[in-house]
Amino acid sequence: MTFSLHGVGVSRGIAIGKAHIVVHADLDVREYPVAPDAVDAEIARLREAVTQARENLHAIREKIPASTPADIAAFIDTHLLMLEDSTLTEEPVHIIRERRCNAEWALKIQRDVLVGVFELMDDPYLRTRQDDVDHVVNRIQRILLNHAPLHHEVAGSQLSGKVLIADDLTPADALLMQHNAIAAFVTEFGGQTSHTSILARSLGIPGVVGVHHARRYIREDEILIVDGKGGVVIGEPDEQTLRHYKQRRREQQKYYQGLKRLKAAPAVTSDGQAIDLYANVELPADFEAARRVGATGVGLYRTEFLYMNRSVAPSEEEHFESYRQLVEALGGLPVTIRTLDIGADKHADGILASRTAGANPALGLRAVRLGLKEPSLSWPQLRAIVRVSALGPVRMMLPMLSTIDEARQVVDIVRTMQADFVQNDVPFDPHMQIGGMIEVPAAAMFADGFARYLDFLSIGTNDLIQYAIAIDRINDEVNYLYDPLHPGVLRLIATTIDAGRRRGTPVAMCGEMAGDTRYTRLLLALGLRIFSVHPSALLEVKDVITNTAVGDIEPLARRVLRTSSMDRFRALIEAIG
Ligand code: PEP
Ligand code: MG
Repeated sequence: MTFSLHGVGVSRGIAIGKAHIVVHADLDVREYPVAPDAVDAEIARLREAVTQARENLHAIREKIPASTPADIAAFIDTHLLMLEDSTLTEEPVHIIRERRCNAEWALKIQRDVLVGVFELMDDPYLRTRQDDVDHVVNRIQRILLNHAPLHHEVAGSQLSGKVLIADDLTPADALLMQHNAIAAFVTEFGGQTSHTSILARSLGIPGVVGVHHARRYIREDEILIVDGKGGVVIGEPDEQTLRHYKQRRREQQKYYQGLKRLKAAPAVTSDGQAIDLYANVELPADFEAARRVGATGVGLYRTEFLYMNRSVAPSEEEHFESYRQLVEALGGLPVTIRTLDIGADKHADGILASRTAGANPALGLRAVRLGLKEPSLSWPQLRAIVRVSALGPVRMMLPMLSTIDEARQVVDIVRTMQADFVQNDVPFDPHMQIGGMIEVPAAAMFADGFARYLDFLSIGTNDLIQYAIAIDRINDEVNYLYDPLHPGVLRLIATTIDAGRRRGTPVAMCGEMAGDTRYTRLLLALGLRIFSVHPSALLEVKDVITNTAVGDIEPLARRVLRTSSMDRFRALIEAIG
């Protein structure tokens, strides 16, 4: 019988294929005694398994296509390094000797020790390391237990066109999905901002995450439909449902093909309002994508990736080099570089290891707060941004501002750096604009103060919604409350846009809401004129813009902001379309 499961759609597209269940965890690891004269053989067995695990990972590493984002390869390198490290390779040897136990059990003991240490430290970065330990230990135990290596790793082309069902997927899995032409993926855990989700979007693989108990309901080889936009998984579809989705898939493919014609078209509403359509970029591969879709420029360069998978902060030269590449790739179009926004859900490996995140990391030391506390992390970046402004139209954007004073402190630091550059004949653009992100509800309420002080504002709805509705954006238990259409959220957005308009300060939106076409007409009606979206969403948003007469819906948006009746509110939103 046809059934449907719901989760969070993280990467759009419709896929139809047979299910392949990935079993990552749940290994039956038990202790058994090893006779004194068999201890050496047991140690040899462990060493052999570690070598084989290393070889498997090297084989995956070699298959990585050149176009794959560098940070993904770095994840695999991290696992390889762990397989070289004595805490995982030599410590279990001592445990086997002392306890005379089997190799799988020795690994389990060592795993528990390591994870126990991480848990005590209560640091979000270390929590990801905990996952890494689990992945690596699991890989070795699997070999020891003669479990086939993860099926999808060896099955290769046999899995082409299948839908992967897993508890969670690692970046290494994501790479294999691309390599093995996997049709789509469904995971039980994970959120919109997990690495696998981000990667799937870049690779164009449809995916739905947070589908609780997916592996309980779905059977191997069952036919599935995955709607990566709607976040729906349909099992055992009947003929009619299949026909319907095949038809929708054809229409979508045709639609996305057809959008290419919009690349060079201006983003102007049907009643003549010009709109700026910028791109959000994260990885070097996105730089080229931004140009390919004809973006007006880059409205958000998330620089966090520069800080990840490493134990020392990037140097000024590394920052400069990365920004230079972006500025050159954009060939004279404006580029907005966001200063570091690490902390909370954005782990930055060893760099933050010494910092405790507190009980509520999203409310703790992150983004601009961290930058102000840790000059060794932020100053090289600020200097590099100022320097790269000599090469093209560069703007600096500060994330997570709570107070004007935070902005003022960064501006003071930048001015001191600029004075130093003048003394030393280092070129820079003295008119480089400095703007800030409106992501904190109190900052949105006081947007006129920020609009007065800064050169531009950009609304970060991903965080603004999280803070306004008080829900952790990566917690799938409360994901259902994440609603860009919450009337309170719309009022915060409208307050910010109005403040910018009154003060003549440009206001953009660069959160995911800006790239979701369900909200494009509403945002236009609320007065938004600058959108910054992922390159893969840009043409779709432009399509809606060019088909919207904004003058017709502006009066409805004013009523949306005034009404206190939810029924009225919904009817007006519906009418805006
Ligand atoms: C946001 O919060 O909306 C945003 C664009 O920043 P990030 O998603 O990187 O936190
Ligand atoms: Mg944010």
